[in-house]
This record gives sequence, structure tokens and C-alpha cells, in this order.
Amino acid sequence: MDGLALGKGKHFFQVMATRGCPHKCSYCCNYAVEALYPGQGKIRRRSVDNIMKELVYLKNMMPYLELFLFTDDSFLAANSKWIQEFRDKYKEKIGLPFFCQTNPVTITPKTMETIIDAGLQIINLGLQTGSERIKKMYNRHIPNEKVTQAAKLLHQYKDKLYPPIWDVILDNPWETVKDKLATVKLMHSIPAPKIFQCFSLTFYPGTLILKMAKEAGFIDDMVKTVYRKYYFAKDYTYTNFLYKLAEKDVPDWIFSILCNSILAYTLDAIIPSKLIRRIVKRIQNKK
Ligand code: SF4
Repeated sequence: MDGLALGKGKHFFQVMATRGCPHKCSYCCNYAVEALYPGQGKIRRRSVDNIMKELVYLKNMMPYLELFLFTDDSFLAANSKWIQEFRDKYKEKIGLPFFCQTNPVTITPKTMETIIDAGLQIINLGLQTGSERIKKMYNRHIPNEKVTQAAKLLHQYKDKLYPPIWDVILDNPWETVKDKLATVKLMHSIPAPKIFQCFSLTFYPGTLILKMAKEAGFIDDMVKTVYRKYYFAKDYTYTNFLYKLAEKDVPDWIFSILCNSILAYTLDAIIPSKLIRRIVKRIQNKK
């Protein structure tokens, strides 16, 4: 993943403090998992002592470890007592930098102050879409203001954190150019430095969105469209190129011209995907 490339060359180990997520997005495995374990609570969190026991064991076994990755779906969806206890014990017993994934709604001034003090260096959050219409479809009721507030707060810690990594979903067959541009504009509004990890919408078995896609006639071959789909294999279109460009420090006036809806609609229709692919590769190679 682009984001984990920030830990490139480091010896890291992946652990989890929780299972589940308080949310239930229509495309996410948590939608299917909740149906499998009814009545078990949306999020199951380990005690801080239990996590420390595992981390101390791992650290003793691999003294060369430099980074822990907490790959929980929403690591910071915890009360302040848990986060403070985690900070105190992690600093005392482990003292290594760490990565976590979380949801923008969990980003508050108090939480960030505590978790950065604990050693957080790399953070990955979900942006997914800026379109209100698509948010309803995703059953993802996170206002754009929450995303921008979280981004501004993270920006205050830019000297202590690697650039925040935001996940975004592309290639949604229900999206219009207007929906896509709403997302691109939200991405552009996030202060740099930032990283966008863009995924091609994949209809996973057991999810609500797969059911919706079947009803809409988007699934003609389950093997090809679902089981063999690679979530990083994005379409090469003009609007998808804009998602990539939103990561760059493009002046607002140029960006707003590029995001003109008539221009985007026309260029999506006429620019060959091979050309977009070549431009995207060139941008990536310049990194
Ligand atoms: S917030 Fe993230 S982890 Fe939670 S259900 Fe939605 S996509 Fe899944």
C-alpha cells in the first residue's frame, strides 16, 4: 500500500487492539461480519494490559523491531480512559513509533495530543467520497466538515507525523461526474502534505453493495467482477487523474479550471485511457 510505504525499510509488525467498527458501510467487510456475529457488539476491544503483554513478547522476540502497525479498522474509536492508559503503558513498556487506522470522527484535539505523545507517527483515515448522494449509498454518514476538521487538526502535527494517508473509493458505476468532482474538491481542500490511497470499488461477498450491484445489473460474471477483481486496478479516466492530482500542491485557480464539470465530462469521454495511464505513471515516477 502507498501508505505503508512510509515505513519502507523499517522492521515492523502488525497487531490489532480491536475487531470490528462502530460503522456499517455498505461496501465494507464489517457489514458482512456483523451479520455473522449478531448481538456481539460492533467493536470488541482488548484490554490495554492484554495488548502490552503481546507487544512486550514481540519486542523481546524481535529486538530489531522499529515500528508497530495497528491495523484495527478504527483504532481510536475508544474512550479517553482507554487511550490515556494505552499511552502511559505503551510509552513505559514499548516506546516504538506506531501506525494506526481510524475514522475521521475519532480525531479530536485531546485524542491527538494523547496518541501522538504515545508514539503515533503514521495515520490512515477513510475519506472515501465527498458526494452526499454516494455517502447515502455507502451508508456512511460522515459530514465533509468532519473530514476537513480532522485534516486541519492533523496538519497542526505535521512536524510529528508523516503525511496522513486518506483512503478514497474510485470507479463506482453509480457515480456521476458531479459526484466525482465533489470528492476531488474535498481531497484538494485537505492541507498538504497528504497521501491519497485510491481503491477501485470492489463488490465483496456478503456486503449490501454487492446486492445493490446485482440488482442494478452490474454483475454479469461473479468470478471476473468480484472474485478476481484487484482493488488497486483503477480505471484510467480524466476524473480518476484528478484524484491523483489532488495530492499535489496545485494552485486553487488551476484546480478549479480542471474541475469544471463540462470539461471533466467531455475529457472523460474523449481522452484515451492509455494516455491517462502514461501521465499517471509519469507523476508516480517523479515521487
Ligand atoms: S468506517 Fe471503515 S472500517 Fe468502519 S464500516 Fe466503514 S469502511 Fe468499514
